[in-house]
Amino acid sequence: MKKHVLFFIVIVFVMPVNNLIAQVNNNVITFMIGGFQVSTLVETQSAGNPSILIGANQADLQKYLTDGTFQSEINAFLVRTPDKNILIDTGLGLNLLQNLQSLGLTAEQIDVILLTHVHGDHIGGLLRDGKAAFPNAVLYLSQLEYGFWTNNKQSLPIINAYKDRIKQFEAVEFDSKDNNLFAGFKGIKAYGHTPGHTVYLVESNGESLLIWGDLTHVTPVQLPHPEIAVTYDSNAQEAIASRLKILKYVAAQKIPIAGMHIVFPAIGNVTVGKEGYDFEPLCTCLGY
Ligand SMILES: [Zn+2]
Repeated sequence: MKKHVLFFIVIVFVMPVNNLIAQVNNNVITFMIGGFQVSTLVETQSAGNPSILIGANQADLQKYLTDGTFQSEINAFLVRTPDKNILIDTGLGLNLLQNLQSLGLTAEQIDVILLTHVHGDHIGGLLRDGKAAFPNAVLYLSQLEYGFWTNNKQSLPIINAYKDRIKQFEAVEFDSKDNNLFAGFKGIKAYGHTPGHTVYLVESNGESLLIWGDLTHVTPVQLPHPEIAVTYDSNAQEAIASRLKILKYVAAQKIPIAGMHIVFPAIGNVTVGKEGYDFEPLCTCLGY
């Protein structure tokens, strides 16, 4: 009897916390968040240029980017709930349809697209041959972001293609009781990178994930130093304030995060670090 108890304790002790359920290839990996399947869909990986950082001193760059560069990635995410297939952003539209196909999904099977913001590396997959690439999807974005988008004539082909399937909503704060989207999803204010930049809190069966869009572009530098902005920010001070607020919240609440410019698997946990915050990717090991 004693032997059985000891065996049980050892098994529990060595088993890592692991939500990984499948890795199709180096572009697609799927984790379980409660009853939802969340897949990272990689669009591109390349070497990034740290000159996009504003306010970084040389010593910090040398400390956090030891070879003078960083791995730059563009991702979209797919959340499969029991009744909906939901894309969060569409990347550049390079590998998106192929990545969905590798999960057994066609463009017609996407029911909802949630946009964090309307930069080209997030909305690039919305059109195909000038038409809506996702003919059955309802497109959601925050009211402020919609206003910012429609100021720019380049948005017209996309707006015409999706027309009455575009829904605007009012982004809220974390602690708001308002359900501004639909069950399990909340659009939260993270303004600054663009005027209406929105992050999405996904909740199922007591587990959560925050899909945080472009809250960071150079994560190894901007977590220890959230006060460092990037040249792409519409309003750097507002973007810094949003980053500080959200990092504090997810670290305190132990909510895992996913990022459009975080390196594969692009999902992990934020903890308080010696300087600012640290990032630990979720385990990508199968068969433990
Ligand atoms: Zn981006």
